Order: sequence, then C-alpha cells, then structure tokens
Amino acid sequence: MRAVALAFAVVLALGPATTQSPAPRRMAITIDDLPGVPADAPVAALRSMTDAMVEALRAAQAPAFGFVNEGKLAVRGETHERTALLETWLDAGVPLGNHTYSHPDLNTVPLADYQRDVIRGEAVTFRLMTARGRTERFFRHPFTHTGPSAPIKTAFERFLRTRGYTIAPFTVENTDYLFSSATRAARRQGDADLIEKIEQDYIAHTMSMLDFYEPLARQTAGREFTQILLIHVNELNAATLPQLLTRVAQRGYRFVTLASAMEDSVYRQRDGYIGRSGPSWIHRWRATRGLPSMMREEPEPPAWILRLVSSER
Ligand SMILES: [Zn+2]
Repeated sequence: MRAVALAFAVVLALGPATTQSPAPRRMAITIDDLPGVPADAPVAALRSMTDAMVEALRAAQAPAFGFVNEGKLAVRGETHERTALLETWLDAGVPLGNHTYSHPDLNTVPLADYQRDVIRGEAVTFRLMTARGRTERFFRHPFTHTGPSAPIKTAFERFLRTRGYTIAPFTVENTDYLFSSATRAARRQGDADLIEKIEQDYIAHTMSMLDFYEPLARQTAGREFTQILLIHVNELNAATLPQLLTRVAQRGYRFVTLASAMEDSVYRQRDGYIGRSGPSWIHRWRATRGLPSMMREEPEPPAWILRLVSSER
C-alpha cells in the first residue's frame, strides 16, 4: 500500500511537471509605416533604422511582417534608395503588405478617396513581393481605424475582399510612437541620459502591456493564443529591439510568422467593434460577444512621457 502510495506520489510529482509545463507562448511581430517614421526622416536615418531592426529580428530568429506607406518612397531623387529599404526587408525574409499610400484616417476621409489610396499604395510593394514569389496580401488600416460606422466598415471590408486582401489584426501594442516622439524630443535637447530613461521605460511599458493582455486573452478566449504585436519602424525600435525581443522571449514566447499566427482559430472570430478608436482585436472580440469593455483598463504610458511629447508640439 505504501509502495503504491509512493508510486502514486512519484507520478504526481513527475507527471504534472511534464504534462503541465506551459506550452511555449507564440507571438507574431508586425511592423508598420515602412520605410519608417517620422515622415520627414532623411533617407540615411531610415537606412540605419532598417538595418538595425532587420539585424535584431535576424539575431532573435524572429519572423516579422512589414506594412508599407508607398507615399514615403516618393521623395525626389531618393525613390530608388527608399525602395531599396523595402528590398532589405524582403531580402531578410520579411514579407510586406499594404498600409495605404498616404496613411489616411478612415474616420475622416471619404470611403472612395480612402479606397483610391489603398490601390495607390500597393503598386511597388506587390511588384517587389511578386518578384520574390510571395503571394501574401495583407492590409493594415492606418491608426487601426476600421470604420466609424457599420456601413463604412462593411463596405470597406467588402472592397478589401474583392482585391484579395486579408486584414492584419493585432492584439498587443505598446504606444511605441509616443515613446519614439519622446526620444526625438530628448535628442533635440541633446540629453543622452533622458533617451536612456525613455528606452528603459518603453521596455517596461511593453512588459506592462503583456501583463495586461496575457490574462485578458485567457479571460476572453479561455486560453493564451498567438499574440500579434504591432510596432513601427523608428529610431526607438532600432535602438531597443534586441532588448525588447529578449524580454519577450524570456516570458516564454516563440516568434512565428503572421500567417502562422492567423491559423489560430481565435482569428476566425468576427471583429464586431464599430467605433472611432483602433483597439486590440481582443477588445474587438469582447465587443462582438457583449463582454464588458476593458479598453479603459489598459496600462497608460508614463505621464512624464506624455508631458515631454506634448511640450514639443
Ligand atoms: Zn501606421
């Protein structure tokens, strides 16, 4: 009896250790606003941002998907060099999708104009993709604004389908654009210590967002599914991406492609959110199913970052 009890205890001790060890978390990385921000960044700055981010992804063996604003290629005398930035992403195995030509806002631009901007924004990207045998056709809405009313949202989604697009959702973002504006302000002030502090707070805030979204995923879908992170090409990410990817990996994440992420059944849920914000798809699925909104519970970036950015405006 003792032996049986002991064996049972051994099974209890060993069994759960193997069967309950958590499955690795998965995350796809999506990168918006290629070839980079701010819009007036010199091409040399865009080149160094691109090279740094591509290298960080390569070192972390992290696939990614890029979303292009082709309007940023149209700078006199620089189009060739700017287009070469897109080729650098593609050569590194990062496929590219459409993020419109000029980054209009579906909340304010008439649908017909917005759709023209989508068509205008696909020419170079799809030529480069096709030349590499890549057939993915993903679209990401600027500001992730998907339509302020049901008729606009529905009509635009129909337009995207007829042009062969799949909408690229995201589940986690980190307001990197705010922290990036803050680093630009600190750079203008020539304050290297401040830049360092902003970068560390940016990493910490990204971890806070994961602290928020991981349990929200469990509450909403009953499990953690493959998260899709949304960041941008900017100096901040060029400087911090190695550390950011390391910290994410330390939470148990393995990086996967966007296409692989979207094989997760959660992404077959309908996005029932109608409104002027651009929330995470987790919030959208909650809206679809009538679950209480958690949008206001999201961690805010530190107040001092907001003050620094607004003082420069
Ligand atoms: Zn964007």
